[in-house]
Amino acid sequence: MFEGNAAAASRLRSRQLLRDRINLGPLTAASTCAIPGCGRATMKAAKIGLAPHHCRKHVEHRARHGSYWINTYAASELKPYLSAATAYVRLWAATDKFIAAAIAAVQAALDEAGPVEIATRLKGMPATKRAKIGLARLRVAKVKPERIVSIVLAVTALCEEKAHRTKEFRMVQICKAVHRLASGTHKVWQVEDYQGRKRRTELHAFPRSSGPVLRLMGRALEEPCEWVVEKHLAGVLAVKIKRYGRHPSLP
Ligand SMILES: [Zn+2]
Repeated sequence: MFEGNAAAASRLRSRQLLRDRINLGPLTAASTCAIPGCGRATMKAAKIGLAPHHCRKHVEHRARHGSYWINTYAASELKPYLSAATAYVRLWAATDKFIAAAIAAVQAALDEAGPVEIATRLKGMPATKRAKIGLARLRVAKVKPERIVSIVLAVTALCEEKAHRTKEFRMVQICKAVHRLASGTHKVWQVEDYQGRKRRTELHAFPRSSGPVLRLMGRALEEPCEWVVEKHLAGVLAVKIKRYGRHPSLP
């Protein structure tokens, strides 16, 4: 009983602290959103949050897409990059040591991600753990590591050609593309819980469409591919431009 009261009091106190910080006023905050042409009040000026330079709409846009203003890439936009990257990885997987190492490292990341958890238990779990479960699900869904390396290269090539070079945006786009392409193949499968009962779980329950999980999972997929990107991004982009031309929005 006492512990319950203490927890409630501490919750109340942290809520009060947050309210105080919001009400502190625009010490370092701007009154209107920094995105050109937006003109809305910043979250801090409107006293609805802490964001000192952006409005609620743009803060939410960033949580969902990884950027205040760039939209998530459509599958059709990514397609030529993915075709080029897939062909490139297939051609070099057996002989290029960087590509072979990345495929092995992605496989290791999936293997080390631990068990898959049932979707309904994800609520309230820390983002780091949910990101691990996301990786484990890719493994259970039998997504090939070659496929993931190709997707990382494809998304990075598209970001590069369109000069969208923010790390956060790229990580979110990698996570979303992997999830989208993976969920098309295996949607539902069975997992066994600790008592040996079989339960169905579905890929589409993860990851959430916004928030830190997207960034953590994107980072975990990108990290093993860093050397491949360093050595082969220019090659993949050259194949893409040779086959499909420049991005239609570019001169
Ligand atoms: Zn705005």
